[in-house]
Amino acid sequence: MSENPSNRTVPSMESLVTLCKRRGFIFQSSEIYGGYAGFFDYGPLGSELKRNVKDAWWKALVHERDDVLGLDSSIIMHPQIWKASGHVDGFADPMVDCKESKKRYRADQLFFARVRVDGETIGYVSVEEADDMQAQADEKASEMKRKLGRQGNLDPVVLQEYTEALPEEYALIPSPATGKPGSLMAPRQFNLMFETKVGPLADASSVAYLRPETAQGIFQNYRNVVDTGRVKIPFGIAQIGKAFRNEITPRNFIFRSREFEQMELEYFIDPDDETWPKVYRYWIDWCKNWLVSIGIPADMVGEDVHPAEKLSHYSKGTTDLTFKFPFGTQELWGIACRGNFDLTQHQEHSGKSMEFFDEARKEKYIPHVVEPSLGVDRTILAILTAAYTEDEVPNDKGSPEKRTFLRFAPQIAPYKAAVFPLLKNKPELVETARTLYEQLRRRWNIGWDVSGAIGRRYRRQDEIGTPYGITVDFDTIEKDQAVTIRDRDTTEQVRIPLDQVESWLAERIG
Ligand code: ATP
Repeated sequence: MSENPSNRTVPSMESLVTLCKRRGFIFQSSEIYGGYAGFFDYGPLGSELKRNVKDAWWKALVHERDDVLGLDSSIIMHPQIWKASGHVDGFADPMVDCKESKKRYRADQLFFARVRVDGETIGYVSVEEADDMQAQADEKASEMKRKLGRQGNLDPVVLQEYTEALPEEYALIPSPATGKPGSLMAPRQFNLMFETKVGPLADASSVAYLRPETAQGIFQNYRNVVDTGRVKIPFGIAQIGKAFRNEITPRNFIFRSREFEQMELEYFIDPDDETWPKVYRYWIDWCKNWLVSIGIPADMVGEDVHPAEKLSHYSKGTTDLTFKFPFGTQELWGIACRGNFDLTQHQEHSGKSMEFFDEARKEKYIPHVVEPSLGVDRTILAILTAAYTEDEVPNDKGSPEKRTFLRFAPQIAPYKAAVFPLLKNKPELVETARTLYEQLRRRWNIGWDVSGAIGRRYRRQDEIGTPYGITVDFDTIEKDQAVTIRDRDTTEQVRIPLDQVESWLAERIG
């Protein structure tokens, strides 16, 4: 069941993608060769933003807690790990090909419905997963009835996943690409792991995989951390790193890509039946609060509790934190109670004990685990969606002008502030501004801009989400040894003495 996040308006995907490219946040990979589907590059500002997001997560989890340790494991690991974890046999999505258009769909993202008039089936409609897919299907069904000139009442149009279609229905369901039936194939399983070969001999024994999640790097090091980290239950191991999935339908910009980054925590707990529900709830709330702490409004985040029948056999519960993205409400962060499935599997396959001796309880057991798993790139898309704002502010001549700005929390903004000398051809202004800039950038990433009217420079910083603009003018050097600091969101200006700028900023941006 999905709680409905707020009615807040979100920007279009196009405006986000355009801004990201224009201002150097995110580029399509290999653009000079026409691009490469499912891969993206972070430009000068995007790489700062990404680093700040990862640092904020690491600080909150690893540095500021006693019970979580960090890890950085390799991307390519022993292939047996993926056998033990179940990925070799089961990390697959059902895929459907359209013979005619050559398009590929994920069968669980393709929906169909039987169109019935007074209980009699007159045809089929299909839609791709979207927030408004029911409305789309209703419209298609009415049109079908009208075109066929059928009298009577249309029955409610009930959408089902393509995976639930009967084999004899495959040929009757229209392909969304062509609108006509007859070209969709039966769904087949497609393993999402990228294969590679390790070592000079390219035979079956050299096959290895790029990790599709960082979590297994944690499980395979669990013993090492326990033996060296002096931990006691409950404790967590956190890791940030790249993951790779050969997604059938990479889409929605950085939301679903083939190379992405994850921030995962495995939180090990005792096996008592009363323990996991409390820990599970604790981490759901923790995750929500963390999102708010980096500037994501709580009313854009929802909770989607997976129904028991959709859980894997070992799972006791999974909740997705969803976010209202421009293309609909979708998973941002998965929080899963995985029992002790992973460690048990590794114990069986490796022959090494994964038992933990709990001093407090004087007993040995394989710990259970609660896993909050978050994508860095999806977090960045959520931050950009939430931060994108348009309003009107007076320009240099005092008349209203449309402005686009990113309302980033200072903690994650690429630049914390930017320094401007009022005029670039007045050495005394430039020198004072430059001294301030050098002082501030020892502590934070600070912008510097000398060209154009001051209003335009503010606007340029607004657009990249710099919270404060600092101007050195003639009064600074001739009168008051103070600067003007302008607030990005309110555009209000205050006069602050030069020697207090650093502490003024520190109070606001940490
Ligand atoms: P989906 O159902 O959207 O494919 P999933 O349930 O398979 O995702 P998990 O395996 O739970 O995803 O991955 C944990 C997190 O990693 C997700 O919540 C998401 O933030 C991120 N993630 C997963 N796949 C991708 C991807 N292809 N691109 C970007 N981020 C991803």
